[in-house]
Amino acid sequence: MARATLDTDGIDQFAERLHGEVLTPDSPGYDEVRAVWNGTVDRHPALVVRPTGVADVQAALAFARETDLPVSTRGGGHNVSGSAVCDDGLVIDCSAMDAVRVDPAARTAWVQSGTTWADVDHETQAFGLATPGGVVSKTGVAGLTLGGGIGHLRCAYGLSCDNLRTVELVTPDGEYRVASRESNPDLFWGLRGGGGNFGVVTAFEFDCHPVGPEVATLLVFYPADDLRAVLRGYREFVAHSPDEVSTLTFAGTLPDEELFSGETLDREKITVMGAHAGDVDAGREALAPLRELADPLADLSGSMPYVEFQRLLDADYPDGMRYYWTSLYLDGLPDAAIDRVEHWARVAPSPLSTVDVWELGGAIADVEPEGSAFPAREAPFLLGIEANWEAPDADEANVQWARDCMADLREFSDGSVYLNFPGFFEDHDETMACTFGDAYERLAALRDEYDPTGLLHANGAVPSPEAARTDGGA
Ligand SMILES: Cc1cc2nc3c(=O)[nH]c(=O)nc-3n(C[C@H](O)[C@H](O)[C@H](O)COP(=O)(O)OP(=O)(O)OC[C@H]3O[C@@H](n4cnc5c(N)ncnc54)[C@H](O)[C@@H]3O)c2cc1C
Repeated sequence: MARATLDTDGIDQFAERLHGEVLTPDSPGYDEVRAVWNGTVDRHPALVVRPTGVADVQAALAFARETDLPVSTRGGGHNVSGSAVCDDGLVIDCSAMDAVRVDPAARTAWVQSGTTWADVDHETQAFGLATPGGVVSKTGVAGLTLGGGIGHLRCAYGLSCDNLRTVELVTPDGEYRVASRESNPDLFWGLRGGGGNFGVVTAFEFDCHPVGPEVATLLVFYPADDLRAVLRGYREFVAHSPDEVSTLTFAGTLPDEELFSGETLDREKITVMGAHAGDVDAGREALAPLRELADPLADLSGSMPYVEFQRLLDADYPDGMRYYWTSLYLDGLPDAAIDRVEHWARVAPSPLSTVDVWELGGAIADVEPEGSAFPAREAPFLLGIEANWEAPDADEANVQWARDCMADLREFSDGSVYLNFPGFFEDHDETMACTFGDAYERLAALRDEYDPTGLLHANGAVPSPEAARTDGGA
């Protein structure tokens, strides 16, 4: 597709139509706004637009159509693939749209698409409410919700996308639309778990639930030598645990100095973490068996304010470090799979990397599979493979470790991956077709309907032709 040349006058006229900022490669601050959480991503957009609302988003999409610029949309900039930014295109950076308004009587929250989970938790907790987010508060609400959203409340109240009542968006043709069960239901279906490929979301409305302010929490560190016993005990526990409990495990080294007030626990270990969504005493009781899976190195379980628990892992994932995260939905956690988790955690080239097992089920499995695009309602576990490292010259070894780990554990899975832990979207079509199954064709049709020219460079379940051409692996 031939692109119109971007001239300074044209950009100036465009900027005058907006209330938000426009940054070009010559603008002060350009390097800060093109940077995303993952330091391996180094893309140079032609323009970054920071809309203040629907009108600016409409103007930005109109400008992109006029100039044939591909568009990527940025929520919190935390997708490991860096899909929030694109080379030579127009980035719609939603971060200036960061309002949250809670309706305590209706138990709903209206949330703009540039917010992080910290913004949402802060406001909802003022009313003793919460909606399911992720387990790190700095992550963007938009990308996490559109891809599913797996957090500390998932087994009690479902995924983030399961709690959506409405999604407000501007589709590539410039139309403002509201998607809900009643309005544009097909679009609503696709936006719940199928990614951000159908338009630029400006706001979400979520259902909220009474949570906190204090919740029972679990944080136990066991020695790596006990990894097999711990994961076997964990597997038995989650098979019968109440839905209020949501837990995950991390196998790796994980330096946790800040958790121990100066005392370091910088050695190989398996961490079991989780929360109970209900009454604190009932929660402590329900979580107690997970504190006795072996002799702990340390046990920081107890209770704490929900917002504090939501922030507990934030410091472990600093902006600008190097990351490659991929995943597999597991059919189960047999002993042979546990052995492989132990092996890959032990041979990780970086001490910061982990192999994680997330419990699924509960309220996630209660949603009818056809009710949303999210693909893995039946999966009991999600395997998260997190390569986290510092040195640029170690990129290849770390990415390869994660890919090898994934390949080795594929026999315990049907090969489907979590859209929000997608690696660098390599083998995109094949992986996503496998992940979404019958829903893949429906998602592709939806994308063709709302974005027939492939304006959005976004990397959801179905890529645009532009994205498929330009995105690659490390
Ligand atoms: C430290 C860390 C912790 C995480 N923890 C969890 C977790 O606990 N649970 C979980 O489920 N996931 C988790 N994730 C994964 C997370 O869900 C994804 O990285 C997600 O994409 C982040 O959302 P974002 O808005 O920050 O993404 P961005 O990188 O800004 O955007 C990613 C994609 O989302 C889409 N998108 C973003 N904004 C919009 C919009 N306004 N309109 C339309 N499409 C849009 C676009 O396709 C874009 O390419 C974590 C990630 C990190 C880095």
